[in-house]
Amino acid sequence: MSQQKKHLQSIRVSHEKHTSACETQVMPVPDTVCISMSQHIGAPCKPLVKKGDYVKVGQPIGDTDAFVSAPIHSSVSGTVTGIEGIRSVMGGEDQAIVIETDKKQEVWEEIKPPEVNSREDFVKAIRASGLVGLGGASFPTHIKYNPQNIDEVDTLIVNGAECEPFITSDHRLMLENPQEIIDGCVIVMEQLGLKEGYIGIEENKQDAISLLNKMLAEQNHPEIKTVTLRARYPQGAERVLVYEVTGKTMNAGVLPAQLGVILSNITTIAFVGQYFKTGRPLTTKRITVDGSAVTEPKNIIAPIGTSIADIIAFCGGYKAEPKKILMGGPMMGRAIFSDRTPLVKNNNAILAFAGAQAIIPEETGCINCGKCHKACPFKLLPTAFATAYENKDADRLNQLQIMQCMECGSCSYVCPARRPLGFINKLSKAFVKEEANK
Ligand code: SF4
Ligand code: SF4
Repeated sequence: MSQQKKHLQSIRVSHEKHTSACETQVMPVPDTVCISMSQHIGAPCKPLVKKGDYVKVGQPIGDTDAFVSAPIHSSVSGTVTGIEGIRSVMGGEDQAIVIETDKKQEVWEEIKPPEVNSREDFVKAIRASGLVGLGGASFPTHIKYNPQNIDEVDTLIVNGAECEPFITSDHRLMLENPQEIIDGCVIVMEQLGLKEGYIGIEENKQDAISLLNKMLAEQNHPEIKTVTLRARYPQGAERVLVYEVTGKTMNAGVLPAQLGVILSNITTIAFVGQYFKTGRPLTTKRITVDGSAVTEPKNIIAPIGTSIADIIAFCGGYKAEPKKILMGGPMMGRAIFSDRTPLVKNNNAILAFAGAQAIIPEETGCINCGKCHKACPFKLLPTAFATAYENKDADRLNQLQIMQCMECGSCSYVCPARRPLGFINKLSKAFVKEEANK
């Protein structure tokens, strides 16, 4: 690892980490869960069960033969009451399995720790666990852990940067389950033949850094080190983190493996540690619940498929009518249409806002201050993107390197005219892709 002197451009955002001292509570099993068949990048799963079937915790209920996919497991025991279309977070329609729970949480008999004698077994076991990138990306992990050039990869980077305001679920994981993180690092490094491991954590989580350092020293793991990152946004973005830890520039379209790196979110790594001990697939998620409309902000572990309404009810209900509900953080999270939306694998926060926090500021004219350009980690030109998009000029957008934009929203955040630049960039990228496919 090269010691970094220069940093990519980043911004200061208000941290709002109100729940960082809130120990995680396990939510009781709700009356029903609604488990989406689209919880990863790639082909959606097809239901493996039908109405009337009795299912148990950890039983596979959805899968597909498609390469880019991961199976989906029941998070509860109970009876399948329907297979329904639901509105996805992206606005489309997904298929989902609705299960009325019996609250017994009977565990599927076939669950046992995986037997792994080769890299192939390891990759198969990771696929069977249903693991996807849990930091938000939802890319199937078995593909990430099986790059074609694995012999050229020697470094594991674990993303413990939790740079979005409000979210503290990864911080709580580090304090409450540090052994799972260490075990996950050791397993992934051994199985993939990686020599060095780095856990990137921001400087505002000194308790987590100290705890992991102490445990790594006690357990004699000199091959794994923590790296203290600045508490700035977007420190947790994949390309920013790789640069901050290794000094290597990762352009859009380049895979971490091409730079000799396997990159995993800290929750993903901790899951590997837990899964190899218990064999229990991915059926629950730790999330932060916060925002001005929530009575008792908390960190909780909830069964996947639990409705946002049930989660909010567990957090004391709404104290004011929510005007905006986000899955994820305020910078990159998505606003949802209804609190009937179910929890999915890659969700790390539910934020419900009322009052001033929910107001979308009125956009005014650009004053050419240049702040958006200065805030961009990749020195892109958001104002030029906006003009090219307005002119529907795909060539110009390509010249300006629109595809390098990672939609972090830093440009929108700093804009005094409150222009929705990040959103325009997203639309511009979709437009360029559409034009390329014509
Ligand atoms: S959204 Fe795109 S253009 Fe704006 S700061 Fe982030 S990377 Fe740069
Ligand atoms: S930050 Fe906003 S006002 Fe300033 S140049 Fe960019 S778009 Fe214009």
